[in-house]
Amino acid sequence: GARPDEDLLAGLNPQQREAVTYRGQALLIVAGAGSGKTSVLTRRIASLLRGREAWPSQILAITFTNKAAGEMRERVEQLVGEAARGMWISTFHSACVRILRREAEQFGFTKAFTIYDSGDSRALIKRLVKEHEADAYGLTPAATQSRISKLKNELSDAESYARSANMSDPAERVFVELFAAYQRELQRANAFDFDDLIGQTVFLFRAFPHVADVYRRRFRHILVDEYQDTNHAQYALIHELTRPIGSDAGPIASSGGMMIFDADPTDDPDKAGASLTVVGDSDQSIYAFRGADIRNISEFERDYPGAKVVLLEQNYRSTQNILSAANAVISNNFDRKDKKLWTDVGAGEQIVGFTGYSQHDEAQFVADEVEVLRKAGIDYAQMAVFYRTNSQSRALEEIFIRSAVPYKIMGGTKFYERAEIKDALAYLVAVSNPADEMAMRRIINRPRRGIGDVTIEAISRYAQEEQITFRDALANSSALSVGPKIQAAIAHLDAVLAEASALMLPASGELAPPTAVAEGLQLLLNKSGYYDALRASKDAQDEARIENLDELVAVAREFARNNPEGTVIDFLAEVALVSDADDLEDASGSVSLMTLHTAKGLEYDAVFVTGVEEDLIPHRISAGEPGGPQEERRLFYVGITRARKRLYVSLAMTRAQFGEVTVAMPSRFLQEIPAELLTWRQSPGDVNSRGGTQSRALNARRGSGSGYGGSGKRYGDDLVPLAKREPSGNLERFANRIPAKVRDNGDMQLAPGDRIRHDDFGEGRVDAVTGEGAKRVAHVRFDKVGPKKLLIKIAPIEKL
Ligand code: ATP
Ligand code: MG
Repeated sequence: GARPDEDLLAGLNPQQREAVTYRGQALLIVAGAGSGKTSVLTRRIASLLRGREAWPSQILAITFTNKAAGEMRERVEQLVGEAARGMWISTFHSACVRILRREAEQFGFTKAFTIYDSGDSRALIKRLVKEHEADAYGLTPAATQSRISKLKNELSDAESYARSANMSDPAERVFVELFAAYQRELQRANAFDFDDLIGQTVFLFRAFPHVADVYRRRFRHILVDEYQDTNHAQYALIHELTRPIGSDAGPIASSGGMMIFDADPTDDPDKAGASLTVVGDSDQSIYAFRGADIRNISEFERDYPGAKVVLLEQNYRSTQNILSAANAVISNNFDRKDKKLWTDVGAGEQIVGFTGYSQHDEAQFVADEVEVLRKAGIDYAQMAVFYRTNSQSRALEEIFIRSAVPYKIMGGTKFYERAEIKDALAYLVAVSNPADEMAMRRIINRPRRGIGDVTIEAISRYAQEEQITFRDALANSSALSVGPKIQAAIAHLDAVLAEASALMLPASGELAPPTAVAEGLQLLLNKSGYYDALRASKDAQDEARIENLDELVAVAREFARNNPEGTVIDFLAEVALVSDADDLEDASGSVSLMTLHTAKGLEYDAVFVTGVEEDLIPHRISAGEPGGPQEERRLFYVGITRARKRLYVSLAMTRAQFGEVTVAMPSRFLQEIPAELLTWRQSPGDVNSRGGTQSRALNARRGSGSGYGGSGKRYGDDLVPLAKREPSGNLERFANRIPAKVRDNGDMQLAPGDRIRHDDFGEGRVDAVTGEGAKRVAHVRFDKVGPKKLLIKIAPIEKL
């Protein structure tokens, strides 16, 4: 009869089929971009479930972002329905949080532990660097943080590092002290930093083999996407999970961060380790700077003897022109296995190149071209704009707003980096994890309560003497040697925290209502006086802060809807793990803007890779790094292989960055794209114009060549930089916050038939007005340049 999973195999090529149906201990799927690696992983999970070879709870699938995890879960659910419930599909970090929540008590933490994001750990390290006067040894907080992180990714701790370091060097001694102190402080605060989430889970499994066995029994099928970007700690975690049940031999040797494992022999089928499937592409390894190690792929067959290797060569994503460009570019990297990616969808459109005079000119081309594509039937949501560094998004945002092109910045973390959001979260941490002194120190004088450093030190000293937490010391304000006013302020804060705690963390056995997090958050912000202080302020920014806090409350409500039994602790973990690629808002209906790193694994009908200039890509900082330029080329390769049908590469002749205007050079990667695949454009939409050809980009070197729009200052590089980046690209909120020097037309009333004059486009006639309030858009037919859409509130226009 037919296989129960026959429909799952429909449309797959023979290699993909094999990757879905192979049943063995270890399977490695290596293949270039767009060849169906992620799809195959998804179908493999579905096939295991459909054939009842595995319970959902026996499956652990690891993806690179939460967003990717969500998509994979959805796909599996579509394929097998209810049977998918209970699978663990998550990032390495989220999986480890779940494990640590259950096991933290085994090794001196509680399940209420806090997760320190990189900003939090930076703050802690900064304090320690100061206390140890470590900057005298060149140990800046940033450098210290990145060294510690690197070591942790190699599973090294302060003690093991000290054994290999030259301890007669005072700078090394101070670094080791800092590293050890940092770790002590984390433990004292009942906190893990990002690297610890993985590293401490590995430690837990090695130190407590019976705990490891629980998970080895549970997860019988482990699948890892984007394996080329795993670092050593993640590799070790997978290795621990796939060892035979009952094996408790730790690593038999450790040298320079590389662990050497024993061979894990077992003949007992009941004790066999989980089956492991990994998929990856060494050409897309872009996280070496964070410790990712391509060797994890190249040495897979050594680590898992007898592993099956499947190669996928057919690309289903891109047109041949895009693929040929990608192949040509990546072939300039040495030290790689050549892959033959091919497609049968045909040559497709030419790749389009554009050189702007300035980044605004470049951005205007992108915005205009987006409109051209949309008229040609491509949805906004099917278009993406990539850049190498976050700061490049600013010019794009300015122009997109002026042109009323809806967009969305991928990279939700920025929202959570805002001071007011960090404050609010610190209040929640103060309630959920009283051991976290850093959170307490953050909120104790926010809003201002007249509590200064002297009082904070008094509380800290008292806590140490009494061997209680900082938080508990607040409850004893009368015992502190501080004035009555300050005493009252402390007592008030203590009471507010206690009230919130009763609401959000009811006595054991009792379940907090799902709405508790949102309510608790509001209670804290109201009764602590935080909201009042913002409302009383005359600063326009503070109004925006209130909106952001309201948004956080909305996030908490949403969380309650999705997790009816979720607690404040789960909420904080979810928030802490929002990664660069995870968006706060629905991106549907808008163009996605993101860094090239964030673009990994995604695909769009049309892709704009912007800022293709020397010093940006390859980035300046990569020049001195071993393998740096090659990693940059992989990053460019990742960018261009996201495109299905249309690919644009653009650059600017001059770029204003860090307050300086520099002359930009075309990236070497542009020359690696075969000339016959690339058409250089003068302006949007003029598909047949080849006037500029390749020479235009090269002319940029000499500062000549004709620019789009005919004026280098078309959109004025003297435009006041917008005060700050928006996290969400929410047009309305953004428009309400345009800095004073940018045009504000207030409530200018326009009606169809009105004539207007635009600073750049000249005169035109209003055809229609759509949208409301700050989002009102005028559809104008300009006499010279044709139809444009303008955001009325800020467009440089006047009514005639
Ligand atoms: P990346 O390296 O960028 O992560 P990938 O190898 O994971 O890419 P997928 O994202 O799985 O590739 O697949 C790329 C596209 O090709 C997707 O749109 C997918 O649906 C499609 N695809 C994969 N296999 C097939 C197939 N056999 N038939 C038709 N479409 C396919
Ligand atoms: Mg993929």
